[in-house]
Amino acid sequence: MLELKMFINGEWVDSESNDIIKSVNPANMREIANFPRGNEQDINKAVKSAKEAFESVEWKEMVYAERGRKLLHMADLIRENKEHLAELETEDMGKPLTQARTDVEVAARYFEYFGGAADKILGETIPINPEMLDYTVREPFGVTAHIVPWNYPIQMTARSLAPALAAGNTAVVKPAEDTSVTSLHLAKLSEKAGFPKGVINIITGYGGEAGSALSSHTDIDHITFTGSVPTGSSVMKNAAENIKSLTLELGGKSPNIVFEDAEFEETAQWVVKTLIQNGGQTCTAGTRLIIEEGIKNKFLDRVSEIMKNITVGPGLDDYDMGPIVSEKQIKNLEKYMDIAKEEGTKILQGGNRKKNMPSNLFFEPTIVVPDSEKSRLAQEELFGPIVTVLTFESKEEALALANSTEYGLVTGIWTKNIDKALWLSSRVKSGQVFINNYGAGGGVEMPFGGQGKSGFGREKGLESLKHYTQVKNVAIKIKN
Ligand code: NAD
Repeated sequence: MLELKMFINGEWVDSESNDIIKSVNPANMREIANFPRGNEQDINKAVKSAKEAFESVEWKEMVYAERGRKLLHMADLIRENKEHLAELETEDMGKPLTQARTDVEVAARYFEYFGGAADKILGETIPINPEMLDYTVREPFGVTAHIVPWNYPIQMTARSLAPALAAGNTAVVKPAEDTSVTSLHLAKLSEKAGFPKGVINIITGYGGEAGSALSSHTDIDHITFTGSVPTGSSVMKNAAENIKSLTLELGGKSPNIVFEDAEFEETAQWVVKTLIQNGGQTCTAGTRLIIEEGIKNKFLDRVSEIMKNITVGPGLDDYDMGPIVSEKQIKNLEKYMDIAKEEGTKILQGGNRKKNMPSNLFFEPTIVVPDSEKSRLAQEELFGPIVTVLTFESKEEALALANSTEYGLVTGIWTKNIDKALWLSSRVKSGQVFINNYGAGGGVEMPFGGQGKSGFGREKGLESLKHYTQVKNVAIKIKN
């Protein structure tokens, strides 16, 4: 069992609370680690340390290419420790080892990608008149706060930390209380990579304590929050109170829109893959299947068959799908199965905890068919391996269904007709659209974020750097 500490100002410390949080492997409920229950006092120390580091000559005056090299070094260190980090992630969160390995590689890619960008954060020159030279520079905000969810701990930590550091900010990270282990390990690697002390701080703890203390701290300059809509809304209130800039990456109810002319087998495989990845505990999961009426029965039969063959078991044994992360989350799935029964939504397959498993947290891959898109099962984010099926007869109807929720994160469009695909793509409410694919293999390079209640601001890609910098305009008068 790991006994971990928090990372403040380059030191490994206990919390002022003297209390700990225990982390269990949801596949067997064995305790794998404990770490400090950080509180407001710890957050104050971490923010102070990040603020001092931001002002330090060591960080502020560091040549940008050198800053980039430190990020590249992080990428190398993550890859050197890939297997160990993947095992820790699997034990902590429950996901299959193959997925955890991918997550670790994606984390390395974030440091690699933004390491390469650290000396390429460009401004513009702006023509005003011949007597003026006007240019912009992109400057870091200062102290950035990163509040991370439990579903992709190492990936999400890296996703916002790497661009924030590349742009010259310093950081205080608050990982989720269920899954803090790999974020703390990233901090260990950051010591080896040679980041000055205080540039990266990791405070473990509960959302209502450490998380809200961080998001309401007056000395932070930007907040990146990834998590649920209600918590995002509360973080936004804190940001508004103190006039802090904010990136919100919230939930989704992403559709896969399947036309009759789609490549049948490949699309069916993808529809299942986008659902069961990480046990459906993915903000971008393809949780709504919107099928053209003519192929509904045949396509659904095939999807159902593929889902019946999904293997479910402990992440370390690398089944297709691992457990749900916690009792709280699986209870939420059961609540939605009750709602399905109450509202008359048909549970075509699955719908229960799996029996005779090493823990009580395994859920069956599930298909539900509501009468209408207004069903709660078709509207709300369930965060499990449950797909909701809707049908359409025209592309206009497909669009109306796709846009019928408050979310707008990702859309998959499956058709051989490029005109139909582009027609939909330009009208669908969605931060990302994938045509005849879903996810583009990780997509570190592509801007990612939501419309509507899926949030705002963008992570990933060079676009992300705009959200970790502020523009300064400089105008110079040229005398004759
Ligand atoms: P959550 O909102 O409960 O928690 C997210 C983080 O916020 C955790 O670190 C938690 O400790 C912290 N937190 C909780 N209460 C807080 C408060 N009052 N103030 C500040 N911080 C607080 O969400 P979750 O259950 O961890 O994650 C699931 C949700 O996250 C889903 O809705 C999912 O779609 C969303 N999500 C979105 C993305 C994305 O990139 N869009 C990625 C992953 C997860």
